[in-house]
Amino acid sequence: MKSNSSILIKLLVLQCLAVVCLSQSFDFFYFVQQWPGSYCDTRQSCCYPETGKPDEDFGIHGLWPNYNDGTYPSSCDRSNSFDESKISDLLSRLEKDWPTLACPSGDGIKFWGHEWSKHGTCSESLLDQYSYFQKALDLKAKANLLQALQTAGIRPADGKYHSLESIKEAIEQALGVTTIFIDCNVDTRGNHQIYQVYLCVDTSASNFIECPVLPHGRPCGNKIEFPSFSSDSNHDEL
Ligand code: 5GP
Ligand code: 5GP
Repeated sequence: MKSNSSILIKLLVLQCLAVVCLSQSFDFFYFVQQWPGSYCDTRQSCCYPETGKPDEDFGIHGLWPNYNDGTYPSSCDRSNSFDESKISDLLSRLEKDWPTLACPSGDGIKFWGHEWSKHGTCSESLLDQYSYFQKALDLKAKANLLQALQTAGIRPADGKYHSLESIKEAIEQALGVTTIFIDCNVDTRGNHQIYQVYLCVDTSASNFIECPVLPHGRPCGNKIEFPSFSSDSNHDEL
């Protein structure tokens, strides 16, 4: 009888440890998208992926686990390295919606691998490699930022300055939240340009939520350009 109850206690302790180990170790995600026209300006130059010039659309930068106090975990499991073969049936969607613009030109594997190792491993208790990338792609489809802005009359290369409020309002209205964050780039002429949009997402990586805390990005000022990504003049051919 005594040995039965001690086995039971040991099992309970093991179960508790498993729950603690497997429970989430972050509070929410930032889902970050970048405007390619501003990325290319930020870097003065950029390189199109080997798979060709991306669409004139926002592209995914990353899905980043974060804590409510503004800090974030990073590179959480060096033993869980990026494995392209696990996401082979997502590759064409990744090429379209998560294109790499860094130089030299690449096929995206390095960028996705970096994002997985630095950020994805910190949500591995909830999302394995396949789910992590699939969720990010689904979030991109759910948050059609370009359409949200266009609906509000904010278009790439429209030659206008937009207020930060009008840009935020257009996106917030479309997504049904009231806290998002916009990061700006300053171009060579000193103009602010919409660069990255941070949306907050619950730990299941499925729903947009109000941001518990805002990131420290580059400030925007109140006269913001939405540059085109149609010119071929500012990218490096390799
Ligand atoms: P993070 O800033 O997310 O820590 O790092 C991004 C890394 O991915 C950098 O090493 C950067 O050079 C590389 N990278 C490759 N393609 C892109 C891209 O299109 N956008 C951004 N932001 N980084 C990229
Ligand atoms: P940057 O200094 O360009 O804003 O950020 C560099 C990199 O640090 C980002 O690409 C991202 O990998 C990470 N990072 C910056 N700010 C945050 C943040 O607030 N939360 C998380 N999770 N990562 C961040």
